[in-house]
Amino acid sequence: MKLTILGNNSTTASAGGACSSYLVEASGKKILMDMGSGSIFNLKKITGVDDIDAIIITHHHFDHFVDIMLMRYEKEGRIYMGEEVKPIPLYTPKMPDWLFESLNKNHLFDFHFIEKDETVNIGELSIDFVPVLHLLETYAVRIKDGEKVLTYSADTGLCQGILTASEDADLFLCEASYGSYDPYVISHHLTGKEAGEIAKMSTVRKLLLTHLPEHGKENVLKDAQEVFRNTELSEIMKSYEI
Ligand SMILES: [Zn+2]
Ligand SMILES: [Zn+2]
Repeated sequence: MKLTILGNNSTTASAGGACSSYLVEASGKKILMDMGSGSIFNLKKITGVDDIDAIIITHHHFDHFVDIMLMRYEKEGRIYMGEEVKPIPLYTPKMPDWLFESLNKNHLFDFHFIEKDETVNIGELSIDFVPVLHLLETYAVRIKDGEKVLTYSADTGLCQGILTASEDADLFLCEASYGSYDPYVISHHLTGKEAGEIAKMSTVRKLLLTHLPEHGKENVLKDAQEVFRNTELSEIMKSYEI
């Protein structure tokens, strides 16, 4: 299984950066998890939009899905030029009406609305969706290829769901939006220290931090490493073998 980081900025994207988006390649499938702002440009450096076998949107905050709108425009443009464009399976929480109406045109996507604690199979991959604590319906993603496990936290605060989703994961891609020094610490995101604590409790093999703040990343890493040593900061356009 291979994970490539297409975007790892938190809500406030940095100059030249991109918000949450992750390409997973495993068992001959390409799965795109989240499509934050700026990520589609990085995706196209690696693969064509039509090569994606499925898209997962963990929740409907703009820093996690807004580039799917650009994908819509791109595909529609090709349809108007007479090209046949195949629909992409889209796994998402139930959408607000305005969003569904915007995306449900020209059969660009096959919609699959995620149910709580649902498991879906894409080829040989088994994917669990575990509800986590955030400001709106949000799912952590646990992908198994028969040998290895990759967990992506989505956006979450400390909760049982993220412990369940990350249990014994080989790679735990976890949000760490703040340093513990930060007075602006809120319950629907994690600090570096909290990400480290979850990794330790869940006995994961490796912790990879994402959804990183524009400033103070090194402090977030240091806080996590004090609790869980095998921790790295994710880097945009870097791939990780699992
Ligand atoms: Zn976010
Ligand atoms: Zn969010």
